[in-house]
Amino acid sequence: MDRRTVIGGAGMLIAAQALSLKAEGRAVSSPVLPDDQRFMQLAVDQAKKGDYPFGTVIVQGGVVLATGFNSARRNADPTAHGEMVAIRAFLDAHGPDALKGTTLYTSGEPCVMCMGAIIWCGIKRVVYAASIAELATRIGQIDITAQQIAAATPFADIDLTGGVLAPEAMTLFPAPK
Ligand SMILES: [Zn+2]
Repeated sequence: MDRRTVIGGAGMLIAAQALSLKAEGRAVSSPVLPDDQRFMQLAVDQAKKGDYPFGTVIVQGGVVLATGFNSARRNADPTAHGEMVAIRAFLDAHGPDALKGTTLYTSGEPCVMCMGAIIWCGIKRVVYAASIAELATRIGQIDITAQQIAAATPFADIDLTGGVLAPEAMTLFPAPK
């Protein structure tokens, strides 16, 4: 097989699979825990205040330490997703070391930007309501899952739990026409 074959088409897939096998990072599907619905309800309540209906709470030891909702319009900042707003609020109040080991609850599966930020911050567990596939039926989404990003990150393990209160999160979006 010459180099061109490896770079194109199926060879790329095989190379990518080999890479992901070598990677130590992984996305662990973690079960729904007793408090997950309670904290997700708080994230959904945050979403109701957003410019777009996305909300986040960051929890450590059963305590909500930061909240955020999409503020892209009011802040004139397209990066002001609920997760980013909550992370920045957390950093302002508690600093970066305290973020490590936290759980982030978000009403929508994190996008590539937010999932990247979550990983760089050392957040340990992400619980989301609506999946990117579900959200894509209502609003534009980058079609890369949180699981794919975690699997492509060799230096971090992150627990992912999806689907908690997904119907509640989806009702915040107008029904498709
Ligand atoms: Zn995002």
